[in-house]
Amino acid sequence: LIWDAVIVGAGAAGIFAALRAKQLEPSFQVLVLEKAPKPLRKVAISGGGRCNVTHDCDDLDFLIGCYPRGGPRLESILTRFMPYDTVDWFQSRGVPLKTEADGRMFPKSNKSQSVIDCLLGEAQRFGVEVRTRVGVTNVAGRSGEFRVQTAQEDLRAKRVLLATGGASKANEWLRAFGHELVEDIPSLFTFCCTHPAIVGLQGLSVERVRLSLQTQPGFESEGPFLITHWGVSGPAVLKLSAFAARVLAELSYRARMQCDLLPHLDSSEVESRVRGLSASGKQVSTLNPFPEIPKRLWQRLLMVAGVGENQHWRKLKDHALVSLTQTLKSLALDIDGKGVFKDEFVTSGGVPLHEIDVYTMESRKAPGVFVAGELLNVDGITGGFNFQNAWASGFVAGEGLVL
Ligand SMILES: Cc1cc2nc3c(=O)[nH]c(=O)nc-3n(C[C@H](O)[C@H](O)[C@H](O)COP(=O)(O)OP(=O)(O)OC[C@H]3O[C@@H](n4cnc5c(N)ncnc54)[C@H](O)[C@@H]3O)c2cc1C
Repeated sequence: LIWDAVIVGAGAAGIFAALRAKQLEPSFQVLVLEKAPKPLRKVAISGGGRCNVTHDCDDLDFLIGCYPRGGPRLESILTRFMPYDTVDWFQSRGVPLKTEADGRMFPKSNKSQSVIDCLLGEAQRFGVEVRTRVGVTNVAGRSGEFRVQTAQEDLRAKRVLLATGGASKANEWLRAFGHELVEDIPSLFTFCCTHPAIVGLQGLSVERVRLSLQTQPGFESEGPFLITHWGVSGPAVLKLSAFAARVLAELSYRARMQCDLLPHLDSSEVESRVRGLSASGKQVSTLNPFPEIPKRLWQRLLMVAGVGENQHWRKLKDHALVSLTQTLKSLALDIDGKGVFKDEFVTSGGVPLHEIDVYTMESRKAPGVFVAGELLNVDGITGGFNFQNAWASGFVAGEGLVL
Protein backbone atom coordinates (compact mmCIF):
# COMPACT_ATOMS: atom_id res chain seq x y z
CA LEU A 1 0.00 0.00 0.00
CA ILE A 2 1.25 3.49 -0.81
CA TRP A 3 -0.45 6.04 1.43
CA ASP A 4 -1.46 9.34 -0.16
CA ALA A 5 0.06 10.96 2.92
CA VAL A 6 1.66 9.88 6.17
CA ILE A 7 1.57 12.46 8.95
CA VAL A 8 4.20 12.14 11.66
CA GLY A 9 2.87 13.38 15.02
CA ALA A 10 -0.70 13.25 16.33
CA GLY A 11 -0.55 16.63 18.04
CA ALA A 12 -2.79 19.61 17.36
CA ALA A 13 -1.18 20.39 13.98
CA GLY A 14 -1.01 16.81 12.69
CA ILE A 15 -4.58 15.89 13.58
CA PHE A 16 -5.95 19.18 12.27
CA ALA A 17 -4.14 18.69 8.96
CA ALA A 18 -5.50 15.15 8.60
CA LEU A 19 -9.04 16.36 9.27
CA ARG A 20 -8.80 19.15 6.71
CA ALA A 21 -7.36 16.83 4.07
CA LYS A 22 -10.09 14.24 4.64
CA GLN A 23 -12.80 16.87 4.69
CA LEU A 24 -11.69 18.14 1.28
CA GLU A 25 -10.96 14.75 -0.22
CA PRO A 26 -12.77 11.89 1.56
CA SER A 27 -11.00 9.27 -0.53
CA PHE A 28 -7.56 10.59 0.45
CA GLN A 29 -5.62 7.81 2.21
CA VAL A 30 -4.02 9.47 5.19
CA LEU A 31 -2.30 7.81 8.14
CA VAL A 32 -1.20 9.59 11.32
CA LEU A 33 1.66 8.05 13.32
CA GLU A 34 2.17 8.90 16.97
CA LYS A 35 4.95 7.60 19.20
CA ALA A 36 3.10 8.22 22.47
CA PRO A 37 0.39 5.86 23.78
CA LYS A 38 -2.28 8.51 23.12
CA PRO A 39 -2.74 11.28 20.58
CA LEU A 40 -2.98 14.97 21.55
CA ARG A 41 -1.02 14.60 24.78
CA LYS A 42 -0.11 18.28 24.91
CA VAL A 43 -3.69 19.35 24.39
CA ALA A 44 -4.53 17.25 27.45
CA ILE A 45 -2.04 18.98 29.74
CA SER A 46 -2.31 22.42 28.20
CA GLY A 47 -3.52 25.48 30.05
CA GLY A 48 -3.43 23.64 33.37
CA GLY A 49 -5.76 20.92 31.97
CA ARG A 50 -8.20 23.48 30.56
CA CYS A 51 -6.59 24.01 27.12
CA ASN A 52 -6.26 27.62 26.09
CA VAL A 53 -7.47 26.87 22.55
CA THR A 54 -6.97 30.31 21.04
CA HIS A 55 -7.06 34.04 21.77
CA ASP A 56 -10.03 36.35 21.31
CA CYS A 57 -8.60 38.63 18.64
CA ASP A 58 -9.52 39.44 15.07
CA ASP A 59 -6.97 42.20 14.51
CA LEU A 60 -4.28 40.71 12.29
CA ASP A 61 -1.58 43.23 13.28
CA PHE A 62 -2.15 42.56 16.95
CA LEU A 63 -2.16 38.83 16.31
CA ILE A 64 1.12 38.85 14.37
CA GLY A 65 2.66 41.01 17.13
CA CYS A 66 2.07 38.15 19.56
CA TYR A 67 4.56 35.91 17.75
CA PRO A 68 8.20 36.80 18.48
CA ARG A 69 9.13 34.40 15.67
CA GLY A 70 6.68 34.65 12.77
CA GLY A 71 6.49 37.87 10.80
CA PRO A 72 4.82 38.55 7.44
CA ARG A 73 5.04 34.95 6.25
CA LEU A 74 3.08 33.83 9.27
CA GLU A 75 0.45 36.39 8.30
CA SER A 76 -0.27 34.40 5.12
CA ILE A 77 -0.86 31.29 7.22
CA LEU A 78 -2.97 32.90 9.93
CA THR A 79 -5.22 34.75 7.50
CA ARG A 80 -6.30 31.35 6.19
CA PHE A 81 -7.42 30.28 9.64
CA MET A 82 -7.92 33.08 12.14
CA PRO A 83 -8.85 32.75 15.83
CA TYR A 84 -12.53 33.29 14.93
CA ASP A 85 -12.29 30.33 12.56
CA THR A 86 -10.98 28.24 15.46
CA VAL A 87 -13.93 29.42 17.56
CA ASP A 88 -16.41 28.55 14.78
CA TRP A 89 -14.75 25.22 14.15
CA PHE A 90 -15.07 24.04 17.74
CA GLN A 91 -18.41 25.68 18.52
CA SER A 92 -20.05 24.20 15.44
CA ARG A 93 -18.84 20.79 16.57
CA GLY A 94 -20.31 21.02 20.05
CA VAL A 95 -17.44 22.60 22.01
CA PRO A 96 -18.61 26.04 23.17
CA LEU A 97 -15.74 28.35 24.13
CA LYS A 98 -15.56 31.19 26.62
CA THR A 99 -13.28 34.21 26.79
CA GLU A 100 -11.48 35.29 29.95
CA ALA A 101 -10.80 38.92 30.83
CA ASP A 102 -7.28 38.78 29.33
CA GLY A 103 -8.53 37.39 25.99
CA ARG A 104 -7.61 33.72 26.50
CA MET A 105 -10.26 31.32 25.22
CA PHE A 106 -11.07 27.98 26.85
CA PRO A 107 -13.75 25.34 26.40
CA LYS A 108 -16.74 26.25 28.57
CA SER A 109 -16.37 22.84 30.20
CA ASN A 110 -12.93 23.99 31.49
CA LYS A 111 -11.67 20.58 30.36
CA SER A 112 -9.13 19.98 27.64
CA GLN A 113 -10.74 16.56 27.22
CA SER A 114 -13.69 18.26 25.44
CA VAL A 115 -11.24 19.49 22.79
CA ILE A 116 -9.63 16.06 22.49
CA ASP A 117 -12.98 14.25 22.26
CA CYS A 118 -14.08 16.62 19.53
CA LEU A 119 -10.91 16.23 17.45
CA LEU A 120 -10.79 12.45 17.80
CA GLY A 121 -14.54 12.17 17.17
CA GLU A 122 -14.04 14.06 13.93
CA ALA A 123 -11.07 11.86 13.04
CA GLN A 124 -13.28 8.81 13.45
CA ARG A 125 -16.13 10.37 11.50
CA PHE A 126 -13.84 11.20 8.58
CA GLY A 127 -12.02 7.87 8.74
CA VAL A 128 -8.59 9.23 9.66
CA GLU A 129 -6.43 6.36 10.84
CA VAL A 130 -4.29 7.22 13.87
CA ARG A 131 -1.73 4.64 15.03
CA THR A 132 -0.24 5.22 18.46
CA ARG A 133 2.96 3.78 20.00
CA VAL A 134 4.56 4.03 16.59
CA GLY A 135 7.72 6.12 16.72
CA VAL A 136 9.05 7.15 13.33
CA THR A 137 12.80 6.62 13.13
CA ASN A 138 13.48 8.05 9.69
CA VAL A 139 11.80 9.69 6.72
CA ALA A 140 13.59 9.63 3.39
CA GLY A 141 12.92 9.48 -0.32
CA ARG A 142 11.24 11.91 -2.65
CA SER A 143 7.84 13.08 -3.78
CA GLY A 144 5.61 10.18 -4.72
CA GLU A 145 7.92 7.65 -3.08
CA PHE A 146 8.75 8.40 0.53
CA ARG A 147 9.86 5.74 2.97
CA VAL A 148 8.68 6.25 6.53
CA GLN A 149 10.59 3.97 8.87
CA THR A 150 9.24 2.85 12.22
CA ALA A 151 10.40 0.22 14.68
CA GLN A 152 7.58 -2.03 13.46
CA GLU A 153 7.61 -1.59 9.69
CA ASP A 154 8.53 0.58 6.74
CA LEU A 155 5.66 2.50 5.21
CA ARG A 156 5.44 4.08 1.79
CA ALA A 157 3.81 7.41 1.08
CA LYS A 158 3.38 9.88 -1.76
CA ARG A 159 3.61 12.81 0.62
CA VAL A 160 4.63 13.29 4.23
CA LEU A 161 3.69 15.91 6.77
CA LEU A 162 6.09 16.42 9.66
CA ALA A 163 4.18 17.72 12.68
CA THR A 164 6.36 16.45 15.50
CA GLY A 165 6.36 19.57 17.67
CA GLY A 166 9.43 21.34 19.01
CA ALA A 167 12.91 19.79 19.30
CA SER A 168 12.48 16.33 17.79
CA LYS A 169 14.18 13.77 15.58
CA ALA A 170 12.47 15.36 12.60
CA ASN A 171 15.19 18.01 12.70
CA GLU A 172 17.69 15.43 11.42
CA TRP A 173 15.43 14.31 8.58
CA LEU A 174 14.77 17.90 7.60
CA ARG A 175 18.50 18.66 7.55
CA ALA A 176 19.01 15.66 5.30
CA PHE A 177 16.33 17.13 3.01
CA GLY A 178 18.41 20.31 2.78
CA HIS A 179 16.76 22.53 5.38
CA GLU A 180 18.80 24.89 7.53
CA LEU A 181 17.04 24.81 10.84
CA VAL A 182 17.11 27.61 13.37
CA GLU A 183 18.60 26.20 16.58
CA ASP A 184 15.98 25.14 19.15
CA ILE A 185 15.92 27.15 22.34
CA PRO A 186 13.26 27.52 25.02
CA SER A 187 10.75 30.33 25.04
CA LEU A 188 8.20 31.26 27.72
CA PHE A 189 10.15 30.89 30.94
CA THR A 190 10.39 32.67 34.27
CA PHE A 191 13.43 34.55 35.54
CA CYS A 192 15.52 33.52 38.54
CA CYS A 193 16.46 36.46 40.69
CA THR A 194 17.53 36.87 44.30
CA HIS A 195 17.29 40.62 44.74
CA PRO A 196 16.59 41.68 48.35
CA ALA A 197 13.50 43.58 47.15
CA ILE A 198 11.73 40.32 46.34
CA VAL A 199 13.31 37.39 48.19
CA GLY A 200 10.74 35.65 50.38
CA LEU A 201 7.81 37.57 48.92
CA GLN A 202 6.54 34.72 46.72
CA GLY A 203 2.89 35.04 45.83
CA LEU A 204 2.84 38.85 45.80
CA SER A 205 1.88 40.46 42.52
CA VAL A 206 1.66 43.90 40.95
CA GLU A 207 -1.15 44.49 38.46
CA ARG A 208 0.95 46.35 35.91
CA VAL A 209 4.69 46.89 35.57
CA ARG A 210 6.96 47.86 32.69
CA LEU A 211 10.07 45.75 32.28
CA SER A 212 13.10 46.78 30.24
CA LEU A 213 15.85 44.33 29.56
CA GLN A 214 19.25 46.01 29.46
CA THR A 215 20.60 43.90 26.61
CA GLN A 216 21.76 44.61 23.07
CA PRO A 217 19.21 44.97 21.54
CA GLY A 218 16.96 45.90 24.45
CA PHE A 219 13.44 44.52 24.99
CA GLU A 220 10.41 45.86 26.85
CA SER A 221 7.15 44.47 28.03
CA GLU A 222 4.25 45.55 30.18
CA GLY A 223 1.67 43.64 32.19
CA PRO A 224 1.04 41.78 35.44
CA PHE A 225 4.09 40.79 37.48
CA LEU A 226 4.34 37.97 39.99
CA ILE A 227 7.01 37.23 42.60
CA THR A 228 7.82 33.51 42.88
CA HIS A 229 9.99 31.30 45.08
CA TRP A 230 12.92 31.64 42.71
CA GLY A 231 12.41 35.02 41.13
CA VAL A 232 9.77 36.62 38.98
CA SER A 233 7.03 35.48 36.62
CA GLY A 234 3.64 36.66 35.35
CA PRO A 235 2.57 37.81 31.88
CA ALA A 236 5.08 40.72 31.73
CA VAL A 237 8.01 38.38 32.41
CA LEU A 238 6.80 35.58 30.12
CA LYS A 239 6.26 37.98 27.25
CA LEU A 240 9.76 39.38 27.75
CA SER A 241 11.22 35.86 27.89
CA ALA A 242 9.63 35.07 24.53
CA PHE A 243 10.76 38.20 22.72
CA ALA A 244 14.26 38.07 24.20
CA ALA A 245 14.59 34.25 24.09
CA ARG A 246 17.59 34.19 21.77
CA VAL A 247 19.50 37.08 23.34
CA LEU A 248 18.96 35.65 26.83
CA ALA A 249 20.13 32.20 25.69
CA GLU A 250 23.32 33.79 24.33
CA LEU A 251 23.85 35.50 27.68
CA SER A 252 23.30 32.21 29.56
CA TYR A 253 20.23 33.81 31.13
CA ARG A 254 22.19 36.51 32.92
CA ALA A 255 21.11 40.08 32.32
CA ARG A 256 19.96 43.21 34.07
CA MET A 257 16.30 44.17 33.95
CA GLN A 258 14.80 47.48 34.97
CA CYS A 259 11.43 47.32 36.55
CA ASP A 260 9.06 50.29 36.54
CA LEU A 261 6.52 49.47 39.22
CA LEU A 262 4.33 52.48 38.41
CA PRO A 263 4.28 52.68 34.59
CA HIS A 264 1.05 54.72 34.56
CA LEU A 265 2.74 57.58 36.44
CA ASP A 266 5.78 59.44 35.16
CA SER A 267 8.72 60.11 37.48
CA SER A 268 7.67 63.66 38.28
CA GLU A 269 4.20 62.48 39.31
CA VAL A 270 5.70 59.79 41.53
CA GLU A 271 8.07 62.28 43.10
CA SER A 272 5.34 64.84 43.68
CA ARG A 273 3.18 62.17 45.31
CA VAL A 274 5.94 61.24 47.76
CA ARG A 275 6.79 64.89 48.36
CA GLY A 276 3.12 65.51 49.06
CA LEU A 277 3.50 63.44 52.22
CA SER A 278 6.50 65.35 53.54
CA ALA A 279 4.33 67.13 56.09
CA SER A 280 2.94 63.86 57.44
CA GLY A 281 3.92 62.60 60.86
CA LYS A 282 3.16 59.00 59.85
CA GLN A 283 5.77 56.31 59.36
CA VAL A 284 6.83 55.68 55.77
CA SER A 285 6.17 51.96 56.15
CA THR A 286 2.54 52.41 57.14
CA LEU A 287 1.55 55.24 54.82
CA ASN A 288 2.00 53.96 51.28
CA PRO A 289 0.78 56.47 48.68
CA PHE A 290 0.65 53.79 45.96
CA PRO A 291 -2.14 51.28 46.60
CA GLU A 292 -1.00 49.28 43.55
CA ILE A 293 2.11 48.18 45.46
CA PRO A 294 1.46 45.53 48.13
CA LYS A 295 2.45 46.46 51.66
CA ARG A 296 5.29 43.95 52.10
CA LEU A 297 6.83 44.87 48.78
CA TRP A 298 6.54 48.56 49.66
CA GLN A 299 8.47 47.93 52.87
CA ARG A 300 11.21 46.15 50.92
CA LEU A 301 11.40 48.95 48.39
CA LEU A 302 11.92 51.43 51.22
CA MET A 303 14.84 49.32 52.42
CA VAL A 304 16.36 49.14 48.92
CA ALA A 305 15.97 52.91 48.57
CA GLY A 306 17.85 53.35 51.85
CA VAL A 307 14.82 54.73 53.67
CA GLY A 308 14.46 53.32 57.19
CA GLU A 309 11.03 51.70 57.75
CA ASN A 310 10.50 53.54 61.02
CA GLN A 311 11.24 56.95 59.61
CA HIS A 312 8.47 59.51 59.48
CA TRP A 313 7.56 61.09 56.21
CA ARG A 314 8.25 64.60 57.43
CA LYS A 315 11.78 63.68 58.42
CA LEU A 316 12.77 62.35 55.01
CA LYS A 317 15.58 64.27 53.36
CA ASP A 318 15.44 65.35 49.75
CA HIS A 319 17.87 62.68 48.57
CA ALA A 320 15.73 59.96 50.21
CA LEU A 321 12.65 61.12 48.30
CA VAL A 322 14.63 61.07 45.04
CA SER A 323 16.06 57.63 45.80
CA LEU A 324 12.59 56.27 46.59
CA THR A 325 11.23 57.65 43.33
CA GLN A 326 14.10 56.04 41.42
CA THR A 327 13.56 52.70 43.11
CA LEU A 328 9.86 52.73 42.24
CA LYS A 329 10.45 53.78 38.62
CA SER A 330 13.58 51.81 37.80
CA LEU A 331 14.30 48.99 40.21
CA ALA A 332 17.30 47.11 38.77
CA LEU A 333 16.90 43.35 39.05
CA ASP A 334 19.70 41.00 37.99
CA ILE A 335 18.41 37.90 36.22
CA ASP A 336 20.45 34.91 37.22
CA GLY A 337 19.05 31.95 35.33
CA LYS A 338 15.88 30.62 33.79
CA GLY A 339 12.99 28.96 35.59
CA VAL A 340 10.17 26.83 34.21
CA PHE A 341 6.68 28.00 33.54
CA LYS A 342 4.58 24.92 34.08
CA ASP A 343 1.40 26.08 32.37
CA GLU A 344 2.86 26.53 28.92
CA PHE A 345 6.24 25.95 27.41
CA VAL A 346 7.29 26.19 23.80
CA THR A 347 10.40 25.75 21.76
CA SER A 348 11.61 28.56 19.60
CA GLY A 349 13.53 27.50 16.51
CA GLY A 350 12.89 24.95 13.79
CA VAL A 351 12.19 25.24 10.08
CA PRO A 352 12.39 28.88 8.95
CA LEU A 353 9.26 30.00 7.12
CA HIS A 354 11.24 31.22 4.11
CA GLU A 355 12.10 27.58 3.40
CA ILE A 356 8.38 26.72 3.25
CA ASP A 357 5.70 27.61 0.72
CA VAL A 358 3.32 29.21 3.21
CA TYR A 359 0.33 28.72 0.88
CA THR A 360 0.61 24.93 1.15
CA MET A 361 3.19 24.34 3.94
CA GLU A 362 5.24 22.35 1.46
CA SER A 363 9.01 22.39 1.79
CA ARG A 364 10.83 24.51 -0.81
CA LYS A 365 13.79 22.15 -0.43
CA ALA A 366 12.05 18.81 -0.71
CA PRO A 367 8.80 18.69 -2.71
CA GLY A 368 6.28 16.36 -1.15
CA VAL A 369 7.48 17.10 2.40
CA PHE A 370 5.14 19.33 4.40
CA VAL A 371 5.74 20.92 7.82
CA ALA A 372 3.29 22.33 10.39
CA GLY A 373 2.99 23.37 14.03
CA GLU A 374 5.75 23.99 16.51
CA LEU A 375 8.34 22.32 14.30
CA LEU A 376 8.29 25.58 12.33
CA ASN A 377 10.35 28.50 13.55
CA VAL A 378 7.16 30.10 14.86
CA ASP A 379 6.22 30.59 18.49
CA GLY A 380 3.82 32.84 20.30
CA ILE A 381 3.56 34.41 23.71
CA THR A 382 1.18 32.83 26.23
CA GLY A 383 -2.53 33.19 25.65
CA GLY A 384 -3.55 30.55 23.08
CA PHE A 385 -1.31 31.76 20.24
CA ASN A 386 0.72 28.56 20.05
CA PHE A 387 -2.33 26.39 19.48
CA GLN A 388 -3.62 28.96 16.99
CA ASN A 389 -0.41 28.46 15.00
CA ALA A 390 -0.89 24.68 15.20
CA TRP A 391 -4.53 24.87 13.99
CA ALA A 392 -3.76 27.36 11.22
CA SER A 393 -0.61 25.74 9.85
CA GLY A 394 -2.25 22.31 10.17
CA PHE A 395 -5.27 23.56 8.24
CA VAL A 396 -3.11 25.02 5.45
CA ALA A 397 -0.99 21.85 5.32
CA GLY A 398 -4.13 19.70 5.11
CA GLU A 399 -5.20 21.69 2.05
CA GLY A 400 -1.68 21.53 0.61
CA LEU A 401 -1.52 17.76 0.99
CA VAL A 402 -4.54 17.14 -1.22
CA LEU A 403 -3.67 19.71 -3.91
C1 LIG B 1 2.52 22.16 29.60
C2 LIG B 1 2.15 22.88 28.33
C3 LIG B 1 0.99 23.62 28.30
C4 LIG B 1 0.65 24.33 27.13
N1 LIG B 1 -0.49 25.07 27.13
C5 LIG B 1 -0.82 25.76 26.01
C6 LIG B 1 -2.04 26.49 25.95
O1 LIG B 1 -2.86 26.45 26.87
N2 LIG B 1 -2.30 27.22 24.81
C7 LIG B 1 -1.44 27.23 23.75
O2 LIG B 1 -1.73 27.90 22.75
N3 LIG B 1 -0.31 26.51 23.76
C8 LIG B 1 0.01 25.77 24.86
N4 LIG B 1 1.16 25.04 24.87
C9 LIG B 1 1.96 24.96 23.63
C10 LIG B 1 1.27 23.97 22.69
O3 LIG B 1 0.97 22.78 23.41
C11 LIG B 1 2.15 23.63 21.49
O4 LIG B 1 2.58 24.80 20.86
C12 LIG B 1 1.36 22.76 20.51
O5 LIG B 1 0.98 21.56 21.15
C13 LIG B 1 2.16 22.45 19.26
O6 LIG B 1 1.42 21.54 18.48
P1 LIG B 1 2.15 20.54 17.49
O7 LIG B 1 1.07 19.67 16.93
O8 LIG B 1 3.02 21.28 16.57
O9 LIG B 1 3.13 19.68 18.41
P2 LIG B 1 2.82 18.69 19.61
O10 LIG B 1 1.55 19.03 20.28
O11 LIG B 1 4.06 18.68 20.42
O12 LIG B 1 2.60 17.30 18.90
C14 LIG B 1 3.65 16.61 18.24
C15 LIG B 1 3.40 15.13 18.37
O13 LIG B 1 4.38 14.43 17.59
C16 LIG B 1 4.76 13.27 18.28
N5 LIG B 1 6.07 12.87 17.79
C17 LIG B 1 7.26 13.51 17.91
N6 LIG B 1 8.24 12.82 17.30
C18 LIG B 1 7.67 11.70 16.79
C19 LIG B 1 8.17 10.59 16.05
N7 LIG B 1 9.46 10.49 15.76
N8 LIG B 1 7.30 9.62 15.69
C20 LIG B 1 5.99 9.71 15.99
N9 LIG B 1 5.45 10.74 16.69
C21 LIG B 1 6.28 11.72 17.08
C22 LIG B 1 4.78 13.72 19.74
O14 LIG B 1 4.67 12.63 20.62
C23 LIG B 1 3.55 14.63 19.79
O15 LIG B 1 2.39 13.93 20.15
C24 LIG B 1 1.51 24.30 26.00
C25 LIG B 1 2.66 23.53 26.05
C26 LIG B 1 2.98 22.82 27.20
C27 LIG B 1 4.23 21.98 27.22
